[in-house]
Amino acid sequence: MKNSISRRNFFLKTAGAGTGLFIFPSLLGNPFQKAGRGITPLIITSHTNETGKNAMEAGWEILKAGGTAVDAVEKAANTIEVDPEDTSVGYGGLPNEKGVVQLDSSFMDGKTYSAGAVGCLENIKTPSSVARKVMEHTDHVLLVGQGALEFARAWGFKEENLLTEKARKIWLRWKEELSPNDDWGVPEHLQGLTEKEAYWHDFPDIENHYGTTNVLAIDVNGNVAGCTTTSGLSFKLNGRVGDSPIIGAGLYVDNEIGAAGATGRGEDVIKSCASYYMVLKMKEGRTPQQACEDALHMIIDRYRKVNPRFFPSEKFVAINKAGDLGCATMKGKRNPQMSVRIESGFTKYEGTIAFPEAL
Ligand code: ASP
Repeated sequence: MKNSISRRNFFLKTAGAGTGLFIFPSLLGNPFQKAGRGITPLIITSHTNETGKNAMEAGWEILKAGGTAVDAVEKAANTIEVDPEDTSVGYGGLPNEKGVVQLDSSFMDGKTYSAGAVGCLENIKTPSSVARKVMEHTDHVLLVGQGALEFARAWGFKEENLLTEKARKIWLRWKEELSPNDDWGVPEHLQGLTEKEAYWHDFPDIENHYGTTNVLAIDVNGNVAGCTTTSGLSFKLNGRVGDSPIIGAGLYVDNEIGAAGATGRGEDVIKSCASYYMVLKMKEGRTPQQACEDALHMIIDRYRKVNPRFFPSEKFVAINKAGDLGCATMKGKRNPQMSVRIESGFTKYEGTIAFPEAL
């Protein structure tokens, strides 16, 4: 396994300090640290924008008060899901090819070793809460489509149109630009531009063409929980379910070890059971950072036989029970980050690029 782990990946950079101050999370003085048990309560999300930060603060409020990891994770995930500006998760997410927003989400509670998930759920802003209901109130793990909606209805979730104006306009442009040989004309704002100009005219300002969020937490009792929630790949085929609601693919939690989650091209994540793989790697003694990188290398080792030039777009995150962190992307120009809330404050953790040559 080719892993080049620089020392700096093991450190947390304190956001806003601007002094180059680094903190090793598991060495932090922590008032919640229980003698001999080494519990470091924390919450992380793969989202690194302002909403990600707000989500971390909302989740931390619960952890700080001695609440459960499950409650903290749900609160944080909901914060991101209801943000209308975020085009990758929940309300405001980019729709499928038909212009319909179909949401996927999964939830796992390490303490009870239970899981719940929903796929292709329409009209409900907070699919993670529906996934939690599946986990806690049924003997099933995954509900999809109409059945998931009926289940949500039964629990009193409010039905709303999830397609914001912003998302509708992006979808409409996508349709208009699909082919010069269909009956959709050249979009008015693109008339007179070359194909290349037209692409760059539209797409740089779309915040998240893809995207998902993972939220993982450890509470003061050392219990681990996680959630993955998404509107899935934008313009996906109607009815497509990604990795996010598949336990072991988009999310896995083991109360004895830690948790892992995935974002990016879900098809590869499903085939590789990536989150389960990361947790198994941590069980073997790999750090969360190494486990994220191991999983990305595992995917490419398989693809190499089929297409040596194919590097799917994926970002993995992981935590272990000691409070160590991990985050890695398949490729990219900038090192990936994730948002972290621990006792000493909000921080951003910087991970690694597994295949920097794959730009
Ligand atoms: N993993 C998500 C999916 O395949 C999409 C993403 O994270 O970009 O549905």
